[in-house]
Amino acid sequence: MYRLFNNFSLKESNTFGINAIAKHYLSIDSSIDLIQFFNKHTEIFLEKRLFLGAGSNLLFIHDYEGLVIHPEIGGIEVIFENKYFVEIEVGAGIKWDYFVAWSVEKGWSGIENLSLIPGNIGAVPVQNIGAYGIDAASVISEVKGVDLATLENKYFNREACEFGYRTSLFKEKLKETFMVTSVVFRLSKHPDFKIQYEGLQDKIAHFGELNLKNIRRAIIAIRESKLPDPAKVGNAGSFFKNPLVTEEMGKKMRNLYPEVPLYPIGSGMVKVAAGWLIEKAGWKGKSAGEAAIHDKQSLVIINQGDATGMEILRLSEMVAEDVFTRFNIHLEREVQVV
Ligand SMILES: Cc1cc2nc3c(=O)[nH]c(=O)nc-3n(C[C@H](O)[C@H](O)[C@H](O)COP(=O)(O)OP(=O)(O)OC[C@H]3O[C@@H](n4cnc5c(N)ncnc54)[C@H](O)[C@@H]3O)c2cc1C
Repeated sequence: MYRLFNNFSLKESNTFGINAIAKHYLSIDSSIDLIQFFNKHTEIFLEKRLFLGAGSNLLFIHDYEGLVIHPEIGGIEVIFENKYFVEIEVGAGIKWDYFVAWSVEKGWSGIENLSLIPGNIGAVPVQNIGAYGIDAASVISEVKGVDLATLENKYFNREACEFGYRTSLFKEKLKETFMVTSVVFRLSKHPDFKIQYEGLQDKIAHFGELNLKNIRRAIIAIRESKLPDPAKVGNAGSFFKNPLVTEEMGKKMRNLYPEVPLYPIGSGMVKVAAGWLIEKAGWKGKSAGEAAIHDKQSLVIINQGDATGMEILRLSEMVAEDVFTRFNIHLEREVQVV
């Protein structure tokens, strides 16, 4: 079934809580609904379009003069299993953290470090979500969806998804053309825990023995202590990506600022903690109108009340310009501006 709304408020559909209006808003329960809808409403087929999950990585700076498509496709199904691993197909409309909790409960490992990340399954391969040393690309074996150019179903195996740091084929080349309808994840029955992240082992020990449930508990506790809950304070998590610089530039930074957090990533490149740069530039807790830099995590911009998307964007630009002037490092947005 599909449901079409005109002039639909997106305030409850994005975690910044921005009151943008979508000209058309379509919610669908299956890919067949989408095809039926376009066969009936050919005039809407020509409009620009946005696929929308939980809106936890988007910043609306204007009303949306096109079609917002919100897949509510459900289902969690084990499609293959042997003694080493299990493959599970999950519908695009399922909440990511619901699936993480479900897998941990089953004793299947690979995504426990990605606990409590907001959003729906459909966006997981688009964003290649990541946290605590893991990214989704390491557990995705297939992405299924509809190509809106031809209205045909298509499948991509992991190699074809062109995964990168918080990006993929679906976010770049196939943006606005490929709607993810389900994702197949391969989880392990023999866990290989990734717990090297600073502070994680201590937190796990606080909950007891090393197992999937305690890793999930520890990750949730750490995240809750640092990140604002979008249900209470509007935000979209990390506003900027951690910038990559050459090793030479990293060495220069280390000489000037011995405490700067740097993470070598190979190929002569180093990741710099964007939150550190913003904090060092003095922006932690600073506000501009109703937009502010979070006082516990400088990488997060919050909506303190009725901020407009433009207000949030302007604050982010001021921060990025200042960081560039001070450190000669360009901050790239992780949040997508619409
Ligand atoms: C408090 C907080 C903490 C966060 N922490 C993390 C973190 O640790 N790691 C991390 O990686 N991210 C994090 N995020 C960002 C966000 O949760 C992820 O990017 C998430 O995957 C977005 O899911 P969503 O359903 O909200 O997607 P949306 O914001 O609705 O959309 C994101 C992008 O995916 C596209 N999209 C959505 N659904 C589909 C679909 N079915 N088919 C095709 N394209 C689609 C959209 O068009 C858009 O380009 C955090 C956000 C918040 C608010």
